[in-house]
Amino acid sequence: MTGTCHCLFAHPANDEERAALAADLKNARHTSDLVSVQILLVRLTTAGSCPARRTKGANA
Ligand SMILES: [Zn+2]
Repeated sequence: MTGTCHCLFAHPANDEERAALAADLKNARHTSDLVSVQILLVRLTTAGSCPARRTKGANA
């Protein structure tokens, strides 16, 4: 159980959301929507550092 993501760029909280983001990214690339591509990439690549995603016992 994790908290809700409150980041500026909302992060995917589970595999389903991650898959949806990846699909959006693919579509944005296909339509040459570079702004969306950048935002989606940020959301995907920074998800690992999301506070809401952090779980107890994570090794530093
Ligand atoms: Zn987040």
